[in-house]
Amino acid sequence: MAGTFDVVVVGGGPGGYVAALRAAQLGAVTAIIERDRFGGTCLVRGCIPTKALLQSSELYTLAKGGAPFGVVADNVGFDWPAAQKRKTAVVDQLVKGVEGLLKAGGVTMVSGAAKLAGGGAIEVAGERLQAKNILIATGSAVSRIPLKGAELTIDSDAILELKEIPKRLAVIGGGVVGMEFAAMFAALGSKVTVLEMLPQILPMVEADLVNVYAKHLSGLGGEIHTDSKVAEVAKVGGGLQVRFSTGAEGGAVDADQVLLAVGRSPYTEGLGAEAAGVKLDRGRVVVDDHLRTSAQGVWAIGDVIGGIMLAHVASYEGVCAVENMAGHERVPDYHAAPNCVYTDPEIAHVGLGEKEAKDRGLEVKVGRFPFAAAGRALTLGQTEGFVKVVADAASGRLLGVHIIGPRATDLIAEATLAVQNGLTLDQLDLTMHAHPTLPEAIMEAALAAQGRAIHIPNRRTHPAPNPSPTPTATATATTVALRNREQQMVTPVKPPAPPVPASFTAKKLELTKANRDFLLGIHRLMQLIRRFEERTQEQYTKAKIGGYCHLNIGEEAAVVGGILPLKLNDYIYTSYREHGHAIARGIDPRAVMAELFGKETGTSHGRGGSMHMYGAKLRFMGGYGIVGGHLPLAAGAAWAVKYRKEKDVVSCLFGDGATNIGAFHESLNYAKVFELPVLWYCINNRYGMGTPVEAASAVADIYKKACAYDMESIQVDGMNVREVLLRTSEVIEKVRADSQPRFIEALCYRFKGHSVVDPDKYRSPEDKEKFRKADPIVAFEHELEESGLADEEYFKAVRQEIDAEVQDIIKFADESPDPKVEDLYKYVYAGEWEERPELKGNPL
Ligand code: FAD
Repeated sequence: MAGTFDVVVVGGGPGGYVAALRAAQLGAVTAIIERDRFGGTCLVRGCIPTKALLQSSELYTLAKGGAPFGVVADNVGFDWPAAQKRKTAVVDQLVKGVEGLLKAGGVTMVSGAAKLAGGGAIEVAGERLQAKNILIATGSAVSRIPLKGAELTIDSDAILELKEIPKRLAVIGGGVVGMEFAAMFAALGSKVTVLEMLPQILPMVEADLVNVYAKHLSGLGGEIHTDSKVAEVAKVGGGLQVRFSTGAEGGAVDADQVLLAVGRSPYTEGLGAEAAGVKLDRGRVVVDDHLRTSAQGVWAIGDVIGGIMLAHVASYEGVCAVENMAGHERVPDYHAAPNCVYTDPEIAHVGLGEKEAKDRGLEVKVGRFPFAAAGRALTLGQTEGFVKVVADAASGRLLGVHIIGPRATDLIAEATLAVQNGLTLDQLDLTMHAHPTLPEAIMEAALAAQGRAIHIPNRRTHPAPNPSPTPTATATATTVALRNREQQMVTPVKPPAPPVPASFTAKKLELTKANRDFLLGIHRLMQLIRRFEERTQEQYTKAKIGGYCHLNIGEEAAVVGGILPLKLNDYIYTSYREHGHAIARGIDPRAVMAELFGKETGTSHGRGGSMHMYGAKLRFMGGYGIVGGHLPLAAGAAWAVKYRKEKDVVSCLFGDGATNIGAFHESLNYAKVFELPVLWYCINNRYGMGTPVEAASAVADIYKKACAYDMESIQVDGMNVREVLLRTSEVIEKVRADSQPRFIEALCYRFKGHSVVDPDKYRSPEDKEKFRKADPIVAFEHELEESGLADEEYFKAVRQEIDAEVQDIIKFADESPDPKVEDLYKYVYAGEWEERPELKGNPL
């Protein structure tokens, strides 16, 4: 075997073997060394075996759902060993094919582990080869992390050889490899749980695409925990348990198999690279823009140089490198490197994402087209997902395309060609697309970006500049439009009717099938508020939210129950704690989060921060920084309603602490004397400001305070959402009927201290434990479950869906612009801005 070659390639993966074939085409005397099987990771334990098995799982899914297509197959089963056998046959055939190609190309194949000996020499299997040029293409290996119990896990190599399908599979790592296995095993019936340390799985994919996949997975019973750090894997009983933490909370997942999929690292073990003068950087071979290493005549490509670790990128680099050896000037250009994820639905993208483009200071146009509106997708019965195109606003040049849906991984080819060659949106849509085909969706998305889509109504794709002097109206309208567009494309897990403000009768709240959607809508709203608040706390600790921040976790029944029975014409005055009230009222949660972040798109254009939520159209006068400061305002508003002889009710919501101050007594007194249509709604969460309520107030049963003003008042169980809704509704309608003020105390429990930074030491651990057990969401879920209206799977799916929604909310807030300094006074004096040009000058 010893000999002299023009080119010796070390590593027979898709980078190495393609390079060897191209080198031979260019006339170089070429050898390739492989220590395992030709084809490398890609053919033997990567791209090919996974896709072969995924094809089996896809067929299984299709067969099970065949009836509507007229394909009736009883007792469809899955034969894992048969699928494995087919996978092995596909791999073997391709490996043989590569060997055949190398042979036919005149490339000398050498088996064994190569070692660089310096000066163009390579040692392999006791022989010594001499080369003018050496190409390192040794690829990558599974990354290891120092995790307690890692020896109990399996990696992407081992999972391909499993003897049986695990009933429960935990996947540590939400990257491409992890998600493809998650998709495969979920389709085959495994209970899949994904644990990802980052806030999003598939971090390189746009969040709106990820949401679609997350929903699909949760529809199969899968669970995704983001922001979750795995602490250890342990043996428990006959199985395994993965223990993890999400923020301050801990969790555990039971599993039969645990896949550790935390990435891959460049592989140079035993290569003797550094001794031969090849510089490494944390294991990665360092190359220049022509793929030369630091050693004379040594080049490197593929996974071993890091960067985009994909098979086609390795092949592309392999061709560039050997052409450079032959004197061509090839500098790899990665701007149109496509990226595919073979989940269900498939995901593929190329070029820049919307955010990435904006971060680079580019003005963009975005167009979307849902597969639900594509004829071909309908005929296939695969309508989940959409195509999104991102183009330069001025020139229309295509910057990126993002697809989730049927055969996205094939569709990306057209987009790649367009991005690679700098085609414009109109060049795409002027190209005739065959009908009915999936690529028509790309054409329609390009049309949509220009407001000319044919098969969907054309919508604005961007928040227009604020034309209105009414701040909230615009912020809300814009963000609601965005949300609606997404809803049009993505079917929620099980769509519950969103609760609308209404009178709640006992019949409407009965746990019956007829009320199912309505009740599930209420449950979903409570979950949304809970998750919103939990994530708000995290954002506060990340310093995204300034000043104080007050949460209402645990009060969801009292919050939702106090707001939903109000009609849209009624007025709401709340305290600063109540983000949940704003959300329950229908104010866009994105605008609420943006307000907390102090952003221009917030409910008060970022002027109120965590203290002033506002929504003029929804008559929501929320959040006053002064405890109880809003009670006299509510009395004033009720006075105005009465004066105008209207039938609206003013609801004033406050905490127990506000009942200890003078304004409370003055307001109640005034309301009674003048018979004002106001509902005083006290959320007694058992905390005063830093003190348990019974130690802060002489009368711990707050509703009794209203008796001093001869006011009808009741106490309700604020942990029971149905009770709060019913009783509050009754009281509101009484107020509306006779214009007499009334008082409700919703007795509940808040799971957090006074503010996010409050150490919360003034309630005993026993008290906390006792109250927490009455968690209003859990209690409501029990009711729904016992009456057969929903089950744990459904609740999990909702949690999953909401998790993704709240991520989106945070992303929106994060990406929103800050208010401009020159607009400091804008919106501060309602209605005055336009009439007082002097306020527009430099306020500083
Ligand atoms: P490799 O394919 O890793 O090949 C390197 C070869 O070098 C190996 O065969 C190794 O045995 C050999 N070698 C190492 N050291 C020596 C030595 N000293 N002497 C001789 N030989 C040596 N990418 C995609 O584009 N699409 C996908 O769908 C996809 N799916 C994947 C699924 C999984 C489960 C995994 C793990 C990876 C997947 N990848 C996918 C990634 C893809 O496999 C890699 O990016 C690609 O194989 C890299 O090619 P390479 O030639 O650089 O290295």
